[in-house]
Amino acid sequence: MALVEVDKATKRYGSLTVLNGLSLDIEAHQVVCLIGPSGCGKSTLLRCINRLETIQDGEIRLHGDRITGPGVDLDLLRREVGIVFQGYNLFPHMSVLENITLGPLKVLGMPRAEARDKAMSLLARIGLAHKAGEYPDRLSGGQQQRVAIVRALMMDPALLLLDEITSALDPELVSEVLDIVRDLARNGMTMVLATHEMGFAREVADKVCFLHAGVVHEEGPPSQIFGDPQDERTRAFLKSII
Ligand code: ADP
Ligand code: MG
Repeated sequence: MALVEVDKATKRYGSLTVLNGLSLDIEAHQVVCLIGPSGCGKSTLLRCINRLETIQDGEIRLHGDRITGPGVDLDLLRREVGIVFQGYNLFPHMSVLENITLGPLKVLGMPRAEARDKAMSLLARIGLAHKAGEYPDRLSGGQQQRVAIVRALMMDPALLLLDEITSALDPELVSEVLDIVRDLARNGMTMVLATHEMGFAREVADKVCFLHAGVVHEEGPPSQIFGDPQDERTRAFLKSII
């Protein structure tokens, strides 16, 4: 059984069908990259997986348990499934340390000293322990995104969803964020990335999924999707972005 099974998920906004019976398996310890043109539904799919959006048809399962439909404990789900967005991730009126420990203190009821120790050791791992007392606006965009990733990691999620996390960054700051993702991948973190960084997807992904018309139009290892795409639309998309 895959860690996540997206089973014929359909998501509509009014008359617009964004996911049209989309199915996708995410195996534990895999890195899955979602690619496709702007508006193809990458963010929507990620948001459906942690229930920021609700699907109208089909089912999504985590560890075999249905996480769509009524009666799902959303707090529990969001402990298991962390998400990091393109920007605006951190609370501006809280220090880095406060941002990072908020979830564990409030949601997990973790003792303050333990939350602090855990936060400091994760910050040290990404080289930002010295910024613990700073406010987000004193950090570069890349540093803010690294802190946002740490904040998600504080909950020990089973799955991390990363939505274009480098898109808002100046080019010279992209690599410091990708380094962390690379490190997490090496350590076996299960991740789904919506990304425009094709070089990075090629390097880090176990599976690349090309979304088109509300479904996974083609999926496979990066060597296939980037090196020998089988489908005309995948080829056209890849050609359009070089
Ligand atoms: P991607 O992340 O691949 O660029 P999105 O998932 O953000 O695509 O969007 C897919 C489609 O759904 C787009 O046409 C977008 O305009 C539409 N959409 C996204 N969110 C909403 C919303 N809250 N209300 C209405 N339409 C939306
Ligand atoms: Mg998006």
